[in-house]
Amino acid sequence: MAASIPSLTHFINGVAVGAGRAFENRNPATNAVVSTVAEADASIVDQAVQAARKALKGPWGKMTDAERAAIMRKVAEGITRRFDEFVKAEILDTGKPIRDVSHLDIPRGAANFTAFADQMLAHGTELFRSPTPDGKGALNYSIRVPRGVIAVVCPWNLPLLLMTWKVAPALASGNTVVVKPSEETPTTATLLGQVMNEAGVPPGVYNVVHGFGPDSAGAHLVNHPGVDGITFTGETRTGTAIMKSAAEGVRPVSLELGGKNASIVFADCDLDVAIEASTRSTFLNCGQVCLGTERIYVQRPIFDEFVQRLKAAAETQRNGDPFEKTTTLGPLISQEHRRKVLSYYERARSSGATLITGGGVPDMPGAFAEGAWVQPTIWTGLPESHPVLREEIFGPCCHIAPFDSEEEAIALANDTPYGLAGSVFTRDLSRAHRVAAQIEVGILWINSWFLRDLRTAFGGAKQSGIGREGGVHGLEFYSELRNVCVKL
Ligand code: NAD
Repeated sequence: MAASIPSLTHFINGVAVGAGRAFENRNPATNAVVSTVAEADASIVDQAVQAARKALKGPWGKMTDAERAAIMRKVAEGITRRFDEFVKAEILDTGKPIRDVSHLDIPRGAANFTAFADQMLAHGTELFRSPTPDGKGALNYSIRVPRGVIAVVCPWNLPLLLMTWKVAPALASGNTVVVKPSEETPTTATLLGQVMNEAGVPPGVYNVVHGFGPDSAGAHLVNHPGVDGITFTGETRTGTAIMKSAAEGVRPVSLELGGKNASIVFADCDLDVAIEASTRSTFLNCGQVCLGTERIYVQRPIFDEFVQRLKAAAETQRNGDPFEKTTTLGPLISQEHRRKVLSYYERARSSGATLITGGGVPDMPGAFAEGAWVQPTIWTGLPESHPVLREEIFGPCCHIAPFDSEEEAIALANDTPYGLAGSVFTRDLSRAHRVAAQIEVGILWINSWFLRDLRTAFGGAKQSGIGREGGVHGLEFYSELRNVCVKL
């Protein structure tokens, strides 16, 4: 087993600040305490917001876009230089397998900084030549100005990746940030503070406060009047509370929320491709990916074959030591989350679902016996109205149902209050485009899943969010466009 990591402090104005109460950070693979974490009260949050406000007026606020972009590239290099440290921290906080952390979480954490440095330099703004009665005309052009202090409130499922996905465009746009990482995964955000210092990010530009949501650091931060904009990723219920906080002071908010994503598999698809993508979309990160698929609709002629092949794929998933390269399935994030996921396993059982595989808890050896493990699970046979098909479970599980017509599949996929992501598998190009246009989501994949280009719009429809981040869309949220009209 890897050794413990030290106690964690807040990161404010470029230095560690560790006052107040502390809470335990547990490794979900073993349930062992890996660190104690300082919890921010209102005065610590105020200190962080004041530091961020002051930094807006300092060297950061006077830099050119190119100078800021150069520093952001150094941040990316700093993460890469301390790659092993970030990998270890993320594994101890989340229990994710090393193969995922070292191929996805940490490289993407670094890539977000280079991608948004590039975006900032590549995107101009608009200019209009406008006619006037005197014939001389006017020029209208817009400039981007930073919004100010951005509160960044993050979930635990992809801690560094999702946090930097927000921090990078916020910094590229010239803002300063106060980050509130999830209480489950506080470490990589704290480590990033050291990297920021090493890269030459001025004190106060990047701040981190730890704690919980209600009556703790999260609520203190989003309610602070010194915050000019809020970007949040997490549950729809939390997003609703945060939007209410944002209404006070009429502050902009970007919400990336929950999902109940569907996949539609037509009989003419390349079944190898559909199985490979469905295996990843159901089981990656133990099913704790907002874009993950929990409802799969398969056209009747290939239904039985699909179910048997996904069952076989589920049964090749390997629970085990997250630090082992052969482990493909880690634990859930916490015992509390395991209780929630297992409550759906129980509801499926008691409602008479056909259990294709899984449905319980694996026997784990030694130190892992106390971890938050669950089996990868597949059901068929539940009605569409069942909570397993209506509510976000956020575990390594899916329900598979048959369909006959294209219209029926579209209606089934859309029958949810959520609208984050979806996948369609077919070899018929016309059908692919036709169906894509009718699925009510922010992100749709054809013959793939989680194929991301950081320049594209990312966000959810319906109750899965408000606004789009990614590429120039991120810059739109993190900056204010000021129109300047020059009479010639
Ligand atoms: P969560 O909403 O419980 O917590 C997210 C963050 O909000 C945490 O840092 C938490 O401490 C904080 N928080 C909670 N209540 C708060 C309040 N009242 N005020 C301020 N802050 C508060 O979400 P989670 O369980 O950490 O993450 C899982 C959820 O995130 C799932 O629903 C998943 O679908 C969603 N998610 C969405 C996306 C996306 O891009 N749409 C990406 C990843 C995760």
